[in-house]
Amino acid sequence: MITQTTYAPSNADSHSASTEAATRTPPLMRLEQEQARPHQDEQGLFDTVLAQFNQAADILGLDPGVREILERPKNEIVVNFPVRLDDGRIETFAGYRVQHNDVLGPFKGGLRYHPQVNADEARALAAWMTWKCAVAGVPFGGAKGGIQIDPSAYSPGEIERITRRFVYALGDNIGPDYDIPAPDVNTNAQIMAWILDTYLSTRPAHERQRNLHVVTGKPVAAGGSAGREKATGQGVAFVVEEWATENNVALDGLTFMVQGFGNVGSWAARLLARRGARLVAVQDVTGAVRNDRGIDPEELLAHVRRFGGVEGYSQAEAITHRDFFETAADVFIPAALENQITARTAPWLKVRLVVEAANGPTDVAGDMVLSRNGVELLPDILCNTGGVIVSYFEWLQNKRHEAWDLEDVDARLKKMITGAYQMVRRTERESVVDARTAAYILALQRLEHAYKQRGIFP
Ligand code: NAD
Repeated sequence: MITQTTYAPSNADSHSASTEAATRTPPLMRLEQEQARPHQDEQGLFDTVLAQFNQAADILGLDPGVREILERPKNEIVVNFPVRLDDGRIETFAGYRVQHNDVLGPFKGGLRYHPQVNADEARALAAWMTWKCAVAGVPFGGAKGGIQIDPSAYSPGEIERITRRFVYALGDNIGPDYDIPAPDVNTNAQIMAWILDTYLSTRPAHERQRNLHVVTGKPVAAGGSAGREKATGQGVAFVVEEWATENNVALDGLTFMVQGFGNVGSWAARLLARRGARLVAVQDVTGAVRNDRGIDPEELLAHVRRFGGVEGYSQAEAITHRDFFETAADVFIPAALENQITARTAPWLKVRLVVEAANGPTDVAGDMVLSRNGVELLPDILCNTGGVIVSYFEWLQNKRHEAWDLEDVDARLKKMITGAYQMVRRTERESVVDARTAAYILALQRLEHAYKQRGIFP
């Protein structure tokens, strides 16, 4: 059952704001927790989450009540909102925000602008945020959202208006101590700055300065944190370093390949290359390139910035999708979209280790193939926590009116992510499970503990 409520955001700029907003803001659909289940009619990404969750919950013997709660998101918000385009036409966009769980802290998660954005994807990504924050020991819950849109089809001015109108439509469904968005695929610091500005503009003037932490991943000049832009890639690099130390492998000369050369992939590649590792193949939405002697990630990034993708990069050979997957390397870092390592593609991989920088890059069948073939995997809910860890630092700095320097941010990030790595390894040994299941067990234990201590109202 879907209940419809009309939402009126507060807006102190106008004396008749709430009446105006009530008429201008599109109706907001909210599926409350007990109304949103089950999602059996949809086969998709959330099924992958449930399969992973159920496996760990069974091994752990998770409390049935806690299991019941975590199996579904708390709130699902869909807003359809109109925007005037440059040519004068009005187009309506679908925006999503799924809030999975907030027992450990405010809802937290990125906003994605992509044609594939839908409720199922947001639901899965929101649940992964819940597990991720629990693994990292960050006091946040899980949320995710975005707009179903191909951003390349719109001008920068249109993207700004679409962003602002989305934030306006979400109204009080986000908030600095309630639900805090961040960047994800096709969104960046500039978009976070527009979110901040729009949100603050709808607050009473005297409240604005204490709402800076409504969004993270902002530009530093707009209240962002040093090191946030590279944080997810930096976290991935710290995880690879930790694995290399543990396995007595030298980073110098280690070969790796990266899928996705956006924020996460390009930062991970640059930071690992600075430690002596050799990037041998890269794939993005435009194609794939390989050079066994090594690709300079800084040069490749300059090419990507100029031409929009890796295609046409002259210092490496253009290869097919299959060639890319069959590249011989030590490490594969998927840093693009979900469902890339599947029953079809997993058998092609010739790597020793998969470090999941993207969310959900490996489906359940892909996982089984990797394990059968002896390819080690470090899971997304550990490897890409760098982003949410530094988002937490940004949130704290905003709340405390502080600005930490980069060395401080990096040192704190390293401590937290390597601590999480060690905890996952320990759980792996104690429960005799693979790393993904161990990370889930760790997350579920922490969530279960919180529910047991708090109890369930009433
Ligand atoms: P981005 O938009 O900056 O980059 C995405 C990259 O993926 C681009 O290079 C794009 O060309 C490539 N890509 C898209 N579709 C592809 C396809 N079909 N095949 C190959 N490449 C493709 O996004 P990002 O912020 O780097 O996010 C990448 C992944 O990391 C996502 O799964 C995201 O959820 C995850 N993640 C991001 C952050 C963050 O802080 N940005 C944090 C945690 C996890």
